Amino acid sequence: MNNIRYRVIIRCPQCGEKYILRGKRNEKGEYETGFKKCVCGNESSLTIDATPEK
Ligand SMILES: [Zn+2]
Repeated sequence: MNNIRYRVIIRCPQCGEKYILRGKRNEKGEYETGFKKCVCGNESSLTIDATPEK
């Protein structure tokens, strides 16, 4: 039922890199995009901004 897809923008405040991904929310309210970590190695202090896709 909950198959809304989101456009997820992940920004890294450490190096300024930006990633645009698509994903779904899981039952924990997290966005599943397959994103692991930034190219600079940062994986904890990322800015995540998601908007539902139409
Ligand atoms: Zn980075």
